[in-house]
Amino acid sequence: MTARVLIVDDVPTNVRLLEARLTAEYFEVLTANSGPQALAICAENDVDIILLDVMMPDMDGFEVCRRLKANPKTHHVPVLMITALDQPSDRVRGLEVGADDFLTKPVDDMQLMARVKSLVRLKGLTDELRARAMTGQQIAIEDALRAMDNISASGGSLLLIDSDVRHAERIRAQLASEHKVDILTAPADAVFQVSGSRYELALVSMALGEFDPLRVCSQIRTVDHTRGLPIILIAEEADKPKVLRALDLGINDFISRPVERNELLARVRTQIRRHRYAMELRESVNSTMALAVTDDLTGLYNRRYFDRHLNVMLGKAQNQERDLALMILDIDHFKAVNDNYGHDIGDAVLREFSARLKRNVRGVDLACRFGGEEFVVLMPDTDVASAEMVAERVRHAIAERPFEVGLQRPLSVTVSVGVSLNEDAVDTPETLIKRADVALYRAKREGRNKVVLDAA
Ligand code: GH3
Ligand code: MG
Ligand code: MG
Repeated sequence: MTARVLIVDDVPTNVRLLEARLTAEYFEVLTANSGPQALAICAENDVDIILLDVMMPDMDGFEVCRRLKANPKTHHVPVLMITALDQPSDRVRGLEVGADDFLTKPVDDMQLMARVKSLVRLKGLTDELRARAMTGQQIAIEDALRAMDNISASGGSLLLIDSDVRHAERIRAQLASEHKVDILTAPADAVFQVSGSRYELALVSMALGEFDPLRVCSQIRTVDHTRGLPIILIAEEADKPKVLRALDLGINDFISRPVERNELLARVRTQIRRHRYAMELRESVNSTMALAVTDDLTGLYNRRYFDRHLNVMLGKAQNQERDLALMILDIDHFKAVNDNYGHDIGDAVLREFSARLKRNVRGVDLACRFGGEEFVVLMPDTDVASAEMVAERVRHAIAERPFEVGLQRPLSVTVSVGVSLNEDAVDTPETLIKRADVALYRAKREGRNKVVLDAA
């Protein structure tokens, strides 16, 4: 696992110390000795994780963190705050300004590596979501990111797995003001218990008698239904090597005994927020995405979606020197349909047109309603000859059979089509559309019900 880490500390020795440890583990390291410098570096570079000292002159770590989290460009970059051991309230304050985790000075090697790796893994997940967003689902994901700011982190439903009842009760009492905690003292039943309920977090004590706590974790991770459930381990100092293994298994965090109430509350809050965020994201990708990207009347993709998708697809075609064809279709004399038969019949024509269009392009082609009675289809890996063939096929599919739209006599409809292909690096989404549009205009001038290829 490698990643780019930014170290921010006003004391040069501290910077060098952390730098040496991280480079030894093959992380790429950037350094800053003040808050403003850190912000400038983040504006210029893609950073995977930030180690941020709290106490700095001018702008302290809290302020730096607040600004990073308020900026959409850096909002998703994990921040690991480095606080003084004798200031436990700093941790809570750090988490409140959005820090993802914290370490105390002097920084323990194992803690450092464990936290950095765990956060880098989380970053990998959000990067993946962002990359997916780039392929066109962005709209819904942006909605979800906004929704996340409104997600609360209290009222959670937790399962605490601990064979020591007294200890478990103590932890429950520490969390009682914010969350509902069920206690399970028989670790063998853990998977059964979590899959039957709607828990948002599992707290697993490492003191489970004969039972291997890592087995509980790996079982939870293996069952489909509970795979995404966050897990926090409660560990003794002596459990450290096992904690490292657990982090590799994908547990989300750990807390050391004796458990400090504020730290516990803060860590639980962070995991619950993260979990609710992930659920929100999934939900919104599944449901609102469909709304955000489709056209109500025809069910085709809408203009907003098309614009994003064209951007991505053209970039890909240019990078990999692959063909990309685009056609714009405009129904002929459509205004007359509205004028003669009314708007509702016009709408019915648009629907039937869309259905025929969709049936006559491939699954990988993206058919969209561009606006009004104009449509556009983006066709990856398609050369001139194939593009022309598809365009002709669609034109024919519209003209061959009059539309049944509830009138006494079926209605003859025709369409004109302009086609363009990406030429080389000079093409932009705009020029590609423009050239197809010019071709379409020629098709109209030359009599309609016609396909014209861009002559570029
Ligand atoms: P041409 O062959 O040159 O394309 O002529 P046209 O009549 O199709 O083109 P024009 O752009 O003059 O008219 C398009 C019409 O499409 C005008 C507008 O009222 C109608 N229209 C746009 N959106 C909708 C819609 O959602 N429903 C209906 N029923 N009509 C629409
Ligand atoms: Mg038009
Ligand atoms: Mg028209």
